[in-house]
Amino acid sequence: MKKRYKTIFLDRDGTLNFDPGYISTVKDFKFYNFTFDALKLFKNTDCNFCIITNQSGVARGLIKPNELDQINDYIKNSFKKNKLNLLDIYFCSDHPNNPSKYRKPNTGMFEMAIKDHEVEIKNSLIIGDNLCDIQAGNRLGIDTMLVLTGKGQKVRSSKKIKPTYVAKNILVGAKYVLGIE
Ligand SMILES: [Mg+2]
Repeated sequence: MKKRYKTIFLDRDGTLNFDPGYISTVKDFKFYNFTFDALKLFKNTDCNFCIITNQSGVARGLIKPNELDQINDYIKNSFKKNKLNLLDIYFCSDHPNNPSKYRKPNTGMFEMAIKDHEVEIKNSLIIGDNLCDIQAGNRLGIDTMLVLTGKGQKVRSSKKIKPTYVAKNILVGAKYVLGIE
């Protein structure tokens, strides 16, 4: 496999970092130790990244908006330190019982990103660990990668999704897409 993507949409929890559920403080936010190795491989192909994340913990009252801001700052700094071009972080704080067009699998956050950053959607890839990530990709008509970290293992056999790629984790997936042994 050797494929190049211009923009890579990244889910957050369970894709880039451990997902203990409703991370409410930056102290509890931990990237996987392979995440930046994976993103640097993609970066070698000159692509941009954009994080798109559902954070219903805000609507549930479990995550305070200012704490989410701190987590976002930490993520942005980490990308900067690793010289990775992060276009933006979009989050949706909706409760799943009352979702707007922004909550994945709806595509509102992607449409914002496409508009804000002039993303060429057909050259994009979505990487995520849950049904809604892959479903959003299907709605947008773009390639998708289900990673088997986070909730990935649990949802991999679901008939509701047909990801383009399934990978043990984002590093294994990056190597596969880029044709690296
Ligand atoms: Mg996730």
